[in-house]
Amino acid sequence: MNQVDYLRISLIDRCNFRCQYCMPEGSELSYVLQQDWLTHDELLTLLREVFIPVGFTRFRLTGGEPLLRPGIVKLVEAIAHLPETRDLALTTNAYLLAHLAQDLYDSGLRRINISLDSLNPQTFEQIVGGRMRWQKVWEGIQAAHRVGFSPLKLNVVVIPGVNDHEVLDLAALTLDRAWHVRFIEFMPIGNASLFANEGWIPSEDLRQRIRDRWGLTDSTVLGNGPADVFQIPKAQGTLGFISQMSECFCDRCNRMRLSADGWLRPCLLNETGQIDLRTALRSGISTQTLQNQVSKLLELKPEINFKARESGTSGGYTRTMSQIGG
Ligand code: SAM
Ligand code: SF4
Repeated sequence: MNQVDYLRISLIDRCNFRCQYCMPEGSELSYVLQQDWLTHDELLTLLREVFIPVGFTRFRLTGGEPLLRPGIVKLVEAIAHLPETRDLALTTNAYLLAHLAQDLYDSGLRRINISLDSLNPQTFEQIVGGRMRWQKVWEGIQAAHRVGFSPLKLNVVVIPGVNDHEVLDLAALTLDRAWHVRFIEFMPIGNASLFANEGWIPSEDLRQRIRDRWGLTDSTVLGNGPADVFQIPKAQGTLGFISQMSECFCDRCNRMRLSADGWLRPCLLNETGQIDLRTALRSGISTQTLQNQVSKLLELKPEINFKARESGTSGGYTRTMSQIGG
């Protein structure tokens, strides 16, 4: 079992996009009230006095759309400069990135993942639910590249009949750029009806398409995340495959998730064991007690991880990906 040292921190559950796969169609989402967000100070207190002491040293800021969080640059700076922070990364849709990339880099951020589900502006805008989006996202990606974020990863959720015909075009981005394109199997969290209608494509099918076109070498697996990493021969970048539907990587899970309103969630696929850290903190419970609770949850995590597998992964989820943070 991996050491659990990686915390995904959702800074906000709101988003300026409405990606088909992430949010349910039609029905309005109810958002966490701003007064219920963990404040910057509360978050930093939890990191310093609860998470770091029990072994968390790698952090990812996500959302909703984390660049919508007021004061994001200051928060990045504070987390990047905690002496125990070994790694800090951000996942964004890049719509607001062009003008924030330099400030984020200067405040200590080095790693960034950007969602890019299509190279075709019309398809992209159909997926993310809005007009005139693609160009700004592409400018955000170029800005991140110029500023020097490395590695620069592009996340693609592959939906049959929607964007799977672009897999080769997206893979081709790695031929002469040191970018890392990662194909993610569509999961039934967020938009259950789209999932029921369109289904998902196993990563191995995508790899076969890429192999048929260029060949595909196994590359050294980078990092210890959930992606299996391959490379087109002589390409500058790599291709990652996150196959949570076709493969079980629960035994290598190294992470927990903290929501914008302070719920700590040990497993993406089920809601067992969640702790409401914000309410506890605001009611005056000591951070030592919270640290003990999180330690206990770490002990229970291996068992919790497999719960969803045992009961099937298509159960009802009360939170969407935009609320959990991916
Ligand atoms: N807004 C940011 C973004 O889109 O990159 C960060 C939050 S988003 C919820 C984090 C990740 O979750 C994205 O890479 C997104 O593609 C992924 N995601 C959302 N819904 C998904 C689903 N149903 N299946 C698989 N991945 C999903
Ligand atoms: Fe927003 Fe990211 Fe979800 Fe798309 S995937 S709706 S950008 S949170």
